[in-house]
Amino acid sequence: MKVPPCPACGAARTIPGACPGCGAVQGEGHVCPHCRGLTRVEPHPTLRWVCAACKGPKLPIPIADPVKLETSRVMLREAKPVPRSGFVPVAAILFTLSTLLALMSTMTIGKAITLVAAWTVFGLLVRARRTRTEKSNGALDRAYSLAVQDYARNGAASAKEIANMLGVSEDQAEGELTLLAAENPTRIEVNADGDVQYRVGEEPKSDLEDFDERLAAAEKKKKASL
Ligand SMILES: [Zn+2]
Ligand SMILES: [Zn+2]
Repeated sequence: MKVPPCPACGAARTIPGACPGCGAVQGEGHVCPHCRGLTRVEPHPTLRWVCAACKGPKLPIPIADPVKLETSRVMLREAKPVPRSGFVPVAAILFTLSTLLALMSTMTIGKAITLVAAWTVFGLLVRARRTRTEKSNGALDRAYSLAVQDYARNGAASAKEIANMLGVSEDQAEGELTLLAAENPTRIEVNADGDVQYRVGEEPKSDLEDFDERLAAAEKKKKASL
């Protein structure tokens, strides 16, 4: 994708609307879905990229398509992790202590039932937390998938390029592109560096594409030779 240089400092850019030189960001696509600020992103160990201001998950590249942009915002808001509560570890200690105390005295049926019930509730609590984490990871994946789709529709994209830009693995980028190509007309070409590039939304190039042109040229040649 060709990106014009930064209007503020003139530095070359690879991501539309985000300058690596002076840090200027422009455009609706860079507005943070959490704090609504026009903010830069910074890398994050589990959320890939976060807003430099509010630390909520944010895409490093803008999405041009308004529908996809809107959906990605919903996904990013869903992906925002719930603040870690200190409740779970404290509850674990209390549960363990009370279990030990109960075991130290003689066990009665009532005590046993209470213990089993208490540990079951605790297990459900832990599971609910895990489900929530899985849900937000899924939402984050969907937001990134939308970014890949949008990027590949606005010009040729290779897995390496997308992986670098989004901070995901090359395998993951390749997977997204293959999926896209399976569901949409896609032209696949090899660029000068030998990287496979995907142009999603363009009809695949066929040998018959210039058939009429070649036939017309051949007829013209035939006529000229007569
Ligand atoms: Zn700049
Ligand atoms: Zn923010």
